Amino acid sequence: MSGSATGAAGTSWTRRLHAGGAHAIYLHIPFCARKCAYCDFASWATPSGGAIPQRYARAIGEQVKEAASFGLLDECETAYIGGGTPTLLGEGLGDLIRVVTGKVPGLKELTCEANPDSLSDAVLADVAAAGCTRLSIGVQSLRDAELAQLGRIHDASLARDRVRAAVASGLDVSCDLMCAIPLQTSDTWEATLGEAVSLGVGHVSVYPLQIEEGTALEKRVGDEQPPWNSPDIQAERMKQAQAQLDGYGFHRYEVASYARSPEEECGHNKVYWAGRSYLGLGTGAASMLTAEGYQRILEVCPQLGPLPKGVSRVRLKVLSEGEAIADGARLSSLSFEEEFLTERQAAAEDLMLGARLACGLDFGLVSYARAILGKAFDQTLERLRGEGYLDGSLAPTEKGWLLGNELYGELWNLAGDTETLVRRSG
Ligand code: SF4
Repeated sequence: MSGSATGAAGTSWTRRLHAGGAHAIYLHIPFCARKCAYCDFASWATPSGGAIPQRYARAIGEQVKEAASFGLLDECETAYIGGGTPTLLGEGLGDLIRVVTGKVPGLKELTCEANPDSLSDAVLADVAAAGCTRLSIGVQSLRDAELAQLGRIHDASLARDRVRAAVASGLDVSCDLMCAIPLQTSDTWEATLGEAVSLGVGHVSVYPLQIEEGTALEKRVGDEQPPWNSPDIQAERMKQAQAQLDGYGFHRYEVASYARSPEEECGHNKVYWAGRSYLGLGTGAASMLTAEGYQRILEVCPQLGPLPKGVSRVRLKVLSEGEAIADGARLSSLSFEEEFLTERQAAAEDLMLGARLACGLDFGLVSYARAILGKAFDQTLERLRGEGYLDGSLAPTEKGWLLGNELYGELWNLAGDTETLVRRSG
């Protein structure tokens, strides 16, 4: 059984298990001009020009400085400012980027999420000058009727104009597009994909719409899954996207991500999928740390409790609300949800993350997981190959892409005990 070789078996893979800091930093900006009908992310409709977003962004900047002063960002290579709508911050976004670029010496990539309605020429020029290298623009569709159904605030003409301007600015540009949405047909999906690429973007992310509980869309459609969002339609649209983007010379490197060239793949997301440590700041933001990284963050966040025995990975989620952060919360005053993973659970999670990638499971990961998980590992992988979820190089097949949740569930079950220890701190 093989995986993609990346050097001596397990060496590079196991090194990341002992990282003392974060390889990536994520900053969450939870403000939007209006809540979209389908959205259940941590984001709130906020009047433009309000004081809270600016104070919040300054407070997050101070937290970045604190984390850097404790050495947590010494090995950080990528940053991602997501939301919500970071571009709603206007000049405050450029200021936050300057803090990050000033405090993270080894930064290779800095992505900002943007929405067309707040990506003005002034914001674009400022973020580029501040050190942003990549923009991920929430376009979703290039058909007005579909955008209206989603409750998006922009129309297709504004989206085209802003994507063109972003591409002309010289930044790497990605478009988020959504399929299996109301009023979408195979023809309108084809048109959206084709137009997005013709605007000059080098990266496209494609997601089937999920109808989430408690959203305006869920209330509108009721309990039945509407025909435009059925599992068959979702699969059909994802297959259509793959064929069409492939035809434009884009390669799929992850279940939902396509790039025009290897250099245009999203380095930040690859940190997540490779099971490398990251730090998330801002309300609702998640971090993933090794046991060593946790000991380091305890120095700056003493409100976190001691590391329970037998834990090799910790997931943190910031529970503090936006207003508390805007009031100047320091890292030591944040509330967190902590989730602790054993070595087996961390290995199973790495397999799940690795199975999202087109390159197949890393050779180092395969050796490491086999050593941790024992016989069950080879048996499960053999079965997943036999059932057509993985191919000979342990990469997902078309079935593996389309039925990802089944594949990931089987890999997670390798943990044995799938119940993780969770506690609240601060
Ligand atoms: S812009 Fe994005 S984060 Fe904001 S409400 Fe819409 S989907 Fe949610």
